[in-house]
Amino acid sequence: MAYITAEEKVPISHKSQAVVNQILDENPILKKILLESNNEQEVNDSIKNWVEPELKKDEQAYKYYKHEITGRKIFEKIRWQDVAAIRILDYINHTNHSYSDLNVRGQKRINTPFKILWLAAKYATGGGKYYFFIDMLELFRQFSGKRKYKLPSREQVEHWMDNNPSGLEPEIIEIRKRNKTRIIDIIIELIDSKSVKTLKYFFEEGISKEEKIKKVNEWWNTKQFHLKFAVRNPELLNRMLNYTLDNETLTILREAEKKGIPFFVNPYYLSLLNVDNPKKKYADAAIRDYIIYSKELIHEFGHIVAWEKEDIVESGKPNAAGWILPSSHNVHRRYPEVAILIPDSVGRACGGLCASCQRMYDFQRGNLNFDLEKLEPTEKWPEKLERLLRYFENDTQLRDILITGGDALMSSDKTLKLILDKVYEMAVRKVEKNKEIKNGQKYAEMIRVRLGTRLPVYLPQRITDDLLKILKDFKNKASQIGIKQFVIQTHFESAMEITPEVKTAIEKIIASGWIITNQLVFTASASRRGHTNKLRKVLNDIGVITYYTFSVKGYMENYHNFATNARAVQEQIEEKRIGKIPKKYIELIRMYPLNAKNMIENVSYLRDRENLPFLATDRNVINLPGVGKSLTFRTVGITRRGRRILKFEHDATRSHSPIIHKMDDVIIVESKPVGEYLRQLEKIGENVNDYSTIWGYSIGETEKRFPVFEYPEYPFDITEEFSNLQV
Ligand code: SF4
Repeated sequence: MAYITAEEKVPISHKSQAVVNQILDENPILKKILLESNNEQEVNDSIKNWVEPELKKDEQAYKYYKHEITGRKIFEKIRWQDVAAIRILDYINHTNHSYSDLNVRGQKRINTPFKILWLAAKYATGGGKYYFFIDMLELFRQFSGKRKYKLPSREQVEHWMDNNPSGLEPEIIEIRKRNKTRIIDIIIELIDSKSVKTLKYFFEEGISKEEKIKKVNEWWNTKQFHLKFAVRNPELLNRMLNYTLDNETLTILREAEKKGIPFFVNPYYLSLLNVDNPKKKYADAAIRDYIIYSKELIHEFGHIVAWEKEDIVESGKPNAAGWILPSSHNVHRRYPEVAILIPDSVGRACGGLCASCQRMYDFQRGNLNFDLEKLEPTEKWPEKLERLLRYFENDTQLRDILITGGDALMSSDKTLKLILDKVYEMAVRKVEKNKEIKNGQKYAEMIRVRLGTRLPVYLPQRITDDLLKILKDFKNKASQIGIKQFVIQTHFESAMEITPEVKTAIEKIIASGWIITNQLVFTASASRRGHTNKLRKVLNDIGVITYYTFSVKGYMENYHNFATNARAVQEQIEEKRIGKIPKKYIELIRMYPLNAKNMIENVSYLRDRENLPFLATDRNVINLPGVGKSLTFRTVGITRRGRRILKFEHDATRSHSPIIHKMDDVIIVESKPVGEYLRQLEKIGENVNDYSTIWGYSIGETEKRFPVFEYPEYPFDITEEFSNLQV
């Protein structure tokens, strides 16, 4: 008998035993192997001898498994059964590999998939849990052909989309009007009772309730009002939500308060919640889960580790991607062409706080709180900004600046104008300097300016005429010096966030000549069938194009919101496909950002012409905990609980820091088994049978970046040299 650890001596449950029996009944060859083998090695050798010849029957699939051929095109041709064969063989090839599992504070995980199965089959031990066995059952069903693959029809996908309402539907608008009335009543009481300290928001002596309501309705249209009356504690939240929070949620939120986790939801955004009615149950789930914390987050707070290593910067040292940066806080960089600028201003904050925000990591150290007065820029900021922008000016490859935070539009108009003016001056200097440099050695000039903001969603009241004038003026003058793309990069999570107020704000931004792109975080509730497609469609209706669909990053703290990467691949292949743009339009769509004002018409033209419900311009990816984004992975292992272990490769379709060639593959131990994810969906009204193919998506391939997001070409040749790099 082989060496057995204490964990492996643990008997399996009756429920698990039933699944093991099912696996054995359905797979006679496997049963013989498991029952006749005397140790893990024998099990693995026998399974390999059985499965590998099957895979070899398809030469391409076998070469793909061996990494002799790669890429999306090949992947799409591989048969469903062969995908299972590859996973079985990958499990064997990675047996006894040890991985650090940051979901359990860095504990080592030894990958032993078939040992767990063998111990269960032979001795009813091994410590495997129910979802581990369910995953195995589905794996062998896929391999044997018992579980057939069927792509859902377009009609089916559209039916799923229709199940997800948008905030522009009359019925939803009406419910939200009622929510707003209720919230305004509470705010009047808060002002009357002087429960909120404010000199700005008060009622003159003796005015009637109607006059008070009128006044608050006027204030409602301003950003400042919503920031002032943002809810910061669970009791007020519950009151504003008409006392609908259950005891468990309230206990969690009180615990969060005790632990010092900030909480910040503005009245406008709150009015979007509570739209439940018998026809549209759980319609607000994706919004709700975004602002209401989970017990795992509370539990992990204080132990959250940074996910993106390149964002950890030590002064004077290169970051994980090899870039030397001018400041450890204000500039982040992963790629050669683009760097992120984080201003020292209120822009470090945000109009809300998403439960899966990566700023949670910083909040643990007491940084980045919501004391907005303290975040006003200091007098030294203009000089510091100059210095930071010299970095962009003197870099050979930088051509794209993403101003974000927190949130770029949290900065005041004055601060934002200053930043944009300084960016303009820097871009002019770069152009001027280039005139003195020979062709082929020239530096990349600034070509794209982006503002990263969720305020059009959290607080559309921020999109004022003054702000629009700043955006328009900047675009007009910056267009003269070669900047071609002006982008508001925003973050809609659900079509339910698209309200009449949002639609108006977005239309105004587009009219000012900026394009708007969206990044969605693929949380469990946002990952429901049709939800992302509905968002894509309604965004396109108002002129927003989709950029990324991000898997939830982080570890145990984001457990509740995590949707497995298998679901991300399933969504990409089965649902997003109905918006696939024919190749012949690639050149046409590349021009769209250059003609931003006509975005709504241009998007509609293409959709109508090709009968597409939306333009599938976004890529499903995860921000890797190493460097870059990718969805190129193979499932190489599984924990005893059924959490899959994925081995990611870097996205080969875009340029990277050369450090990428020195980096190992990235391993992610997912926090949630596929089975638990499905159970979670069931609790919010989903039919898990609709998701049955999810089990088979064990391989992912990153989509190519859509040409609409490519940088325009220069009319000259730039140097191939990299500056500010140390690898
Ligand atoms: S919008 Fe972005 S920065 Fe703001 S709280 Fe959400 S995730 Fe964090």
